[in-house]
Amino acid sequence: MYDFEYHKPKSLDDAAATLSQHEDFKLLAGGMSLLPALKLRLARYSGLVDLGALGQLRGIRREGDEIVIGAMTPHAEVADSAAVARAIPALAALAGGIGDPLVRNRGTLGGSIANADPAADYPAGVLGLGATVVTTRRTIAADKFFIGMFETVLEPREIITEVRFPIVEAAAYSKFRQPASRFALVGVFVARTRGGVRVAVTGAAPSVFRFKEAEEALTKQFDSTALDAITIAAAGLNSDIHASAEYRAHCVMVMTKRAVAKAANVPSPCNERGRVRQGATMSVNINTPSPGSSAGERGSTYR
Ligand SMILES: Cc1cc2nc3c(=O)[nH]c(=O)nc-3n(C[C@H](O)[C@H](O)[C@H](O)COP(=O)(O)OP(=O)(O)OC[C@H]3O[C@@H](n4cnc5c(N)ncnc54)[C@H](O)[C@@H]3O)c2cc1C
Repeated sequence: MYDFEYHKPKSLDDAAATLSQHEDFKLLAGGMSLLPALKLRLARYSGLVDLGALGQLRGIRREGDEIVIGAMTPHAEVADSAAVARAIPALAALAGGIGDPLVRNRGTLGGSIANADPAADYPAGVLGLGATVVTTRRTIAADKFFIGMFETVLEPREIITEVRFPIVEAAAYSKFRQPASRFALVGVFVARTRGGVRVAVTGAAPSVFRFKEAEEALTKQFDSTALDAITIAAAGLNSDIHASAEYRAHCVMVMTKRAVAKAANVPSPCNERGRVRQGATMSVNINTPSPGSSAGERGSTYR
């Protein structure tokens, strides 16, 4: 690790000012990705601006038909949140399936999406739900936020403050995880909204992406059989020591079907007019294999 200055501002204005005064300072959130990169000397910054003292960036609240999560909220808090479990249980399940307890207690929503790791889980939830990323400078629609491998539209001095997730009619996340890191070899988030179905895929390509053919088929018929005639091309998908592009393409279809089956089997938190019921509850057991699958998704062998 190279030497660096360490700053821990007490206000968001101080954090923004410190960043704007020093061109090569970097924000530090949970440090789960940034600190290993520094330790391995894969990255070098002359200073870190730790967001850890900014309590206003941490927390979860419901505002109308949205769940609003502060950028510094650790994954464990999202996984354990009753408000998230009531409104968007798939998001709580996604957060609870990230890494291990240490990673979930240190890693944050803002750090995860700013990092834009191609195998990270949150980008699928943010894109699949059509969330809005709020920063110190603007609001950014999820569809515009992720632009490449470890690449977002964030400007160097821009700080994510919160993410606003719309409460949808039904949603589920299915991940086939890399057993050592628990990152997504392939993860698929499916959300049925009043305007149609959104399907976001992580782990398969250089960046999270929307699976448009599946969205069209599922908007007509929200049932995993609607996907029977659809395939996804391996060209352009990731290929590495863990899985070939062809294997990932196959996994995308399997995970999409599992997510649809899960989402179709839970009661909607919305009433007949599409409005979210107050206090609505839904349960998603991410340990339960979906119908038609021979293996569970957590700690099981993929067949
Ligand atoms: C062993 C291990 C296993 C993991 N497994 C998984 C997994 O299964 N699934 C998964 O999704 N992730 C996984 N992760 C990643 C982890 O969940 C964190 O989300 C991720 O490391 C980044 O979050 P962080 O809060 O630690 O950010 P940091 O490491 O502190 O920062 C990451 C980047 O985001 C920037 N940043 C941080 N906060 C902000 C902000 N508010 N505004 C703008 N930029 C910001 C930083 O400058 C830096 O560039 C794993 C990590 C480890 C070490």
